[in-house]
Amino acid sequence: LSMADRDGWIWLDGELTPWREAKTHVLTHALHYGSAVFEGERIYEGRVFRLSAHSARLVNSARLLDYDLPWTREQIDDATREVVKANGLAFGYIRPIAWRGSEVMGVSAVGTKVHLAIAPWAQEGRLSVQVKPGGIRVTMAKYRRPSPEVAPGAAKAAGLYIICGIEKDRALKAGFDDALMLDWQGRLAESTGANVFLVLGGKLVTPKVENFLDGITRRAVIGLARKRGWEVEERAVMPQELDDASEVFLCGTAAEIVPVGAIDHRHYQVGPMTRTLMADYAELVRQPDCEGFGESVHFATCATVER
Ligand code: PMP
Repeated sequence: LSMADRDGWIWLDGELTPWREAKTHVLTHALHYGSAVFEGERIYEGRVFRLSAHSARLVNSARLLDYDLPWTREQIDDATREVVKANGLAFGYIRPIAWRGSEVMGVSAVGTKVHLAIAPWAQEGRLSVQVKPGGIRVTMAKYRRPSPEVAPGAAKAAGLYIICGIEKDRALKAGFDDALMLDWQGRLAESTGANVFLVLGGKLVTPKVENFLDGITRRAVIGLARKRGWEVEERAVMPQELDDASEVFLCGTAAEIVPVGAIDHRHYQVGPMTRTLMADYAELVRQPDCEGFGESVHFATCATVER
């Protein structure tokens, strides 16, 4: 079923709009110049996991790109609840997106209006990467995440997903499930749609966020691990360290927690720490108080990162 041809409601610029009528023009600035910021959220038992954190990150992404977003974080939270309810969804995925419209054409965005749509649909289980019995197979990407001098990587911006799309498809064509990207300095960064964790010497290690996406799931996983009394290191991780890892997993809103069975020639077991965190996460997202911010109150608000 095409994403454009479905029943249901999409919240569009303040109105609940029939799904098939939620359209935009071919001369939309965002289509030509990549001027859109978005979120990916999940509905569990009728509640949106970390809703306020996602809305806050959307507002932050818009600010990083200098969009005049006419909605506050609180209004976006309310609109999201409204459209989830209108669609009667208990389990689902939500795509909020803010973009520059078709009011004016040209590189300059002056005169364009910033639009906002929130589209939720039924979804159970994972999106983008599926759990496989022995873990998924990942390859190393050729392109890297941009440096802070090249792009505001803290923004969940459409334009920053060009590389993710290329690398995801390259990986799929070569028989892998996903690709792992390095940052501009050759350190591990993230996969095409999720953050990455390693178990090294019994400790959980994850790349410190520097100009790639500050994952809300990543923060939840760190919180769950610390609650269990496990040590978590957020630091620069070099790709060679993958040789010594006993477990590797990806995590993100769509992927949830996905064990990695292989990265190119390296093989990993689906180990006890990954399994425990998967169970803990499945329980966490079903808590009655799972909306709100959780561990994700602050997002980087400047376009450049100190080095
Ligand atoms: N990195 C990238 C490139 C992503 O697309 C995502 C998914 N939004 C993540 C990391 C994980 O972020 P989150 O846990 O907030 O979904």
